[in-house]
Amino acid sequence: MKIVSTKAELKAILDQVKARGQSIGLVPTMGALHPGHMSLVQAASAQSDFVIVTIFVNPLQFGQGEDLDKYPRRLEADALLCESHGAHLVFAPSPEEMYERPTQTLIANTDLDDLYCGAYRPGHFKGVLTVVAKLFNLSRADKAFFGSKDYQQLYLIQRMVKDLDMCVEVIACPTVREQDGLAMSSRNEYLSPELRQKALGISQGLQAAQLAFEAGERSCARLQECVRGPILASGADSIQYIEVLSADDLLPRQNLESKGVILVAAYYGNTRLIDNRELI
Ligand code: AMP
Repeated sequence: MKIVSTKAELKAILDQVKARGQSIGLVPTMGALHPGHMSLVQAASAQSDFVIVTIFVNPLQFGQGEDLDKYPRRLEADALLCESHGAHLVFAPSPEEMYERPTQTLIANTDLDDLYCGAYRPGHFKGVLTVVAKLFNLSRADKAFFGSKDYQQLYLIQRMVKDLDMCVEVIACPTVREQDGLAMSSRNEYLSPELRQKALGISQGLQAAQLAFEAGERSCARLQECVRGPILASGADSIQYIEVLSADDLLPRQNLESKGVILVAAYYGNTRLIDNRELI
């Protein structure tokens, strides 16, 4: 497996891959890889001839005062994991390589950029969509694999691909969880053992809402309260938002009529965790 850090090296290798007629699968990540990321690499390797994992902590998607500097970086260990899960190439550019000059072009979703996570992280999704579009172009991927863990991000990427007629198929992969239900995340390593235990309140809240939904509850306000109870009881330091939305357009309703989704963001200590649950 190769590790490359420049666009020129990547292009030279991909020219050969394309000349061989191989299909390309892309897994964009920010590194600090865990089994959630590896599930994407495995899916990519099952569905593509040549698998590229990108490892890039994208400054454009971090706001002032966020964890850009302290975000865990460990390229060597990440590359070993990628190799053992079937990746053929890791692309790990520096910020200067990725943005050779300050970008003047950003991709925005007019309706959903500033909602939910976007309301608390101004500019975040413009940074995400822009870097993902660049990675699609650089990788010439046939398929790109994303986790449902970042539900709003996944929705926005799917929407970008449709709206801009991008030639890549987005494959959504399920959230991988710890045995006790905590969604795996690179940011979980910020949690002390005590906070790690408390943070189970999120998946417990989602589970409570799921049970209420299965028992026939369709009121978004009441489903929201089902999630809030266990999160408050767990001792979360703050709840940023709990949204019960239609999964069709990611917009609020009074009552769920078709498939729904609950999105949650909460702080345990200084660590911001997100999770979600589809209600079908
Ligand atoms: P990140 O490195 O956090 O930017 O995530 C890179 C990709 O891995 C995104 O598509 C995430 O949705 C996905 N991902 C992160 N955590 C998980 C998880 N627990 N299960 C499945 N996919 C995940």
